[in-house]
Amino acid sequence: MNFFAVRGATTVSKNEKEEILEKTKILLTQLIETNKLSFQDIVSIIFTTTKDIDAVYPAVAARELGMKSIPLTCCQEMHVKGSLPLCIRVLIHVQLEQSRALQPVYLEKAVMLRPDLAKLTIAIDGPAGAGKSTIARLLANRMGILYLDTGAMYRAMGLKVLEKGKDPGNSKEVIDLLPDTDISVQLGGEGQKVFLDGREVTNEIRTGEISDAASKIGIIPEVRRKLVELQRQIAKTASLVMDGRDIGTYVMPNAALKVFLTASPEERARRRWKELKQKGMESDYDTILQEIIQRDANDSNRSFAPLRKAEDAVLIDTTDKSIEQVIQKLENLLQN
Ligand code: C5P
Repeated sequence: MNFFAVRGATTVSKNEKEEILEKTKILLTQLIETNKLSFQDIVSIIFTTTKDIDAVYPAVAARELGMKSIPLTCCQEMHVKGSLPLCIRVLIHVQLEQSRALQPVYLEKAVMLRPDLAKLTIAIDGPAGAGKSTIARLLANRMGILYLDTGAMYRAMGLKVLEKGKDPGNSKEVIDLLPDTDISVQLGGEGQKVFLDGREVTNEIRTGEISDAASKIGIIPEVRRKLVELQRQIAKTASLVMDGRDIGTYVMPNAALKVFLTASPEERARRRWKELKQKGMESDYDTILQEIIQRDANDSNRSFAPLRKAEDAVLIDTTDKSIEQVIQKLENLLQN
């Protein structure tokens, strides 16, 4: 015999007997079905609940499902300040003839506990300079999930067009390059790496000239279709935060959380100016402001997947907010 344990968790909306029993039954049933277990395989089950649950023992749900002779116990989960409220956790011990991997199950708001296991997608959209990439990267790091910066893909395509001596504003010239263009990304702990035709271009694409080219080629539907397909493929494989212009409206319309970050053009220009200054690069504030206004117009006025807030996205104006304040707000939204 081989001994294993498998974890699961769920949440309830209130401390009420009916809901606690119903949600616990759903959790146990999904754990059993997902892992093809029979009651005979189960050695024992430990349930814990957060301190705000006391209307009924969740073990009652297991008895009602027919687990008459399995040893069960219920405990209170250690209370950690700020942790997910109204949460029921289970740890099931099993014995199996054959060794095999067991799948944990996280339901309702408990997906937050292990976003790396329970696929969670977060879409962050907004205009250039609203703080999307900083916020998205930090949030992904804190949650232990991936971050995909889709702008980097448009930038890589912009680089290709410029390197080939073509005009980013000429749709035909850009579309002709598409069949011979391979854009890929590598996501992970060290951040995102971007490859153009097999060559790493992660740093090369961070120039004003490339920003402008990316903004122009982003208008072309054929370019968008190619890059969106790649973005959707990546989203299928893992939990991630994806930022861009059309993520909540077009790329991931079913994302668990959609956010639209914005800030006044003047504030966004000021941030860009400051960022360049910190890098030791002198720049002209008015020129930056004009560029931002032009990029906003390109993004918002294109006919295919323009920049706009999804109806169910949460609007956050970051003009007077610190990065930490925005992250806090997103974490609250994810937990409530
Ligand atoms: O976000 P970032 O400034 O790196 O994006 C570069 C350009 O790529 C943007 O100005 C925008 O026009 C385009 N883009 C887009 N759709 C996305 C991401 C970026 O059109 N999802």
